Amino acid sequence: DPRIARISSAIRVIPDFPKPGIMFQDITTLLLDTKAFKDTIDLFVERYRDKNISVVAGVEARGFIFGPPIALAIGAKFVPMRKPNKLPGKVISEEYSLEYGTDIMEMHVGAVEAGERALVIDDLIATGGTLCAAVKLLERVGVHVVECACVIELLGLKGRERLGDRPLFVLVNST
Ligand code: 5GP
Repeated sequence: DPRIARISSAIRVIPDFPKPGIMFQDITTLLLDTKAFKDTIDLFVERYRDKNISVVAGVEARGFIFGPPIALAIGAKFVPMRKPNKLPGKVISEEYSLEYGTDIMEMHVGAVEAGERALVIDDLIATGGTLCAAVKLLERVGVHVVECACVIELLGLKGRERLGDRPLFVLVNST
């Protein structure tokens, strides 16, 4: 798809952020390019509009940027998957491992119902731990995760393997 090249070149790489040795993929420059940003949303909408998806679950924080326009366009609700102690209502939590230590992801009880069909969205997959935690939260309450989607996949960290059988769709690959 000719739109991919423009999306790819609109993503800025910042070396040594947030710490030395990390090449940070910065999607804020993609948001500044009105055509590339729209193409990004359009590509996801084209893929998911006829898949009977009732839930778009967005992972904090950058899944909150890409998720809502997709949800509105396909007629699905948007559910935020948040860092701990941010959601005010009753939550279910899932712990997951990071490079150093662990983190927790939370979802509001009652946001989704058993049998619903979900798309899980984030900006980037690295080790896959974050997306996997979001998937588990949804599956624990009986939701079918149709697919996970990201703008960028960092190859070499085997994040895709961590997702097991669940399909992962990405627009741009990076090393
Ligand atoms: P994972 O859990 O797959 O190892 O890490 C993915 C999570 O970390 C995502 O929520 C993503 O937003 C964030 N992340 C890790 N590295 C980068 C990066 O280089 N750029 C951006 N934008 N996010 C990153």
